[in-house]
Amino acid sequence: MSAVQLERLQGHLQRLRLFKSCERIEAILQKAAAEEIGYADFLGQVLSEEVAAKTSKNVAMRTAMARFPFVKALDAFDFGYQPSIDKKQLTELANCHFIEHGENIVILGPPGVGKTHLSVGLALKAIELGYRVLFTTAAAMIATLTKASAEGKFEDKLKVYTTPKLLVIDEIGYLPIDRMGANLFFQLISRRYEKGPMILTSNQSFSAWGDVFGDRVIATAILDRLLHHAITLNIRGNSYRLKDKLKAGLIRTEESDAVS
Ligand code: ADP
Ligand code: MG
Repeated sequence: MSAVQLERLQGHLQRLRLFKSCERIEAILQKAAAEEIGYADFLGQVLSEEVAAKTSKNVAMRTAMARFPFVKALDAFDFGYQPSIDKKQLTELANCHFIEHGENIVILGPPGVGKTHLSVGLALKAIELGYRVLFTTAAAMIATLTKASAEGKFEDKLKVYTTPKLLVIDEIGYLPIDRMGANLFFQLISRRYEKGPMILTSNQSFSAWGDVFGDRVIATAILDRLLHHAITLNIRGNSYRLKDKLKAGLIRTEESDAVS
């Protein structure tokens, strides 16, 4: 193939925004000639490299847009350390059928047991499957909605949280929520009810959500919608953050006290 021919080909590929193919075409052509592969195999190779490149770019972009606090996959989760989580159940959830069914996942447990890690891991799976995801903490979302409401932009801002296919709301219960915040939170939950799957995490059991939201009636209304179609994972056990200290006997927990 002449240099002019190659240049023309690369021009077309560039124009079609098939950048990976443009970069690889010369090498693939040479290989195809050397190995005498057929037309279909040649085209298959060009296209599969292009699709792989576009997919991985897309995943990277959607991962950045999701605003995770950290990017850790489920593979990096040590299930051996957290026997209260059923690895099989989690692997099943990672298929993301809950998203298609509009179901929620609620992850409860004390600090450091992996609630955020599991939410991020599941959300990354959703991204791999092509869904748009947004991660927020309850406090950040309520602060944003409260400000928007004061500025008369509530409906606009609400869209930020209703548009993504999967919304992760982390850390419900760490910070107290005022009446206005509870109200705005309820509106978001109502809006996503039955059509917008969510993953929520909390360090507080459901019975304490009345105190978290400062209002038993609103908390009940929120839980009523959230739990209508939901899978709850209760994580018990020790903080992973304190794993090494626990091992070294530097701190005590109820569990280690019971053993000793
Ligand atoms: P939580 O949200 O429950 O407070 P995190 O998910 O933030 O806890 O976990 C705290 C840190 O410990 C994170 O860096 C997380 O990746 C890690 N971690 C927690 N549990 C595990 C685990 N079972 N295997 C591997 N890493 C873990
Ligand atoms: Mg967390």
